Amino acid sequence: MVGRGDRNDSSHSRSLPVFSVGVTGIGPAASRSQSERSTDELHPVYCDIIHFRVKNCIFCNIVEETIPSYKVWEDEQFLAFLSIAPQQRGHTLLIPKIHTDYVFDLSDQDLSQLVLKAKPLAKALKLALKPATGKVGVVFAGMGVAHVHMHLIPMDSEKDLNFSNARSDVKAEEFEENLKKIKEVLF
Ligand SMILES: [Zn+2]
Repeated sequence: MVGRGDRNDSSHSRSLPVFSVGVTGIGPAASRSQSERSTDELHPVYCDIIHFRVKNCIFCNIVEETIPSYKVWEDEQFLAFLSIAPQQRGHTLLIPKIHTDYVFDLSDQDLSQLVLKAKPLAKALKLALKPATGKVGVVFAGMGVAHVHMHLIPMDSEKDLNFSNARSDVKAEEFEENLKKIKEVLF
């Protein structure tokens, strides 16, 4: 069971404490794992690039709540929210809160945690939305928004994994209804 998140966590305020950088071999910290680097250790040019990426990243803005979302769940490191272009009812995106472009640039630990956090979410999506296949599909496409996101898609059929089926006509009431159903079984 996933616990309720805590937005009062001061370690994840608007400061940018540690970043996984989508480049390798830069600065004095190059020999360390990317998730261990802080912006203080990077060349100022790279810091500027990182700040630019984060400022212009829609998912970072969702994390910072400068852009609203239908939030499903969060903890200190991860956030899950409903996709605004769902391929199926309850289509959820699970993201690490720290900006990283490519899923396989995550540290082993962060990647493992991401998958483990998806497990109770997928169970809740299955319980709440009762997909015909009895399964929640998982997709890491890495396109669209350049911030790691796992698609969790309750599947009535395999076609639901097709991004060309994304809907743009979903009304707020439908999002709210699905969110309520998911939260009822998640917490
Ligand atoms: Zn981002």
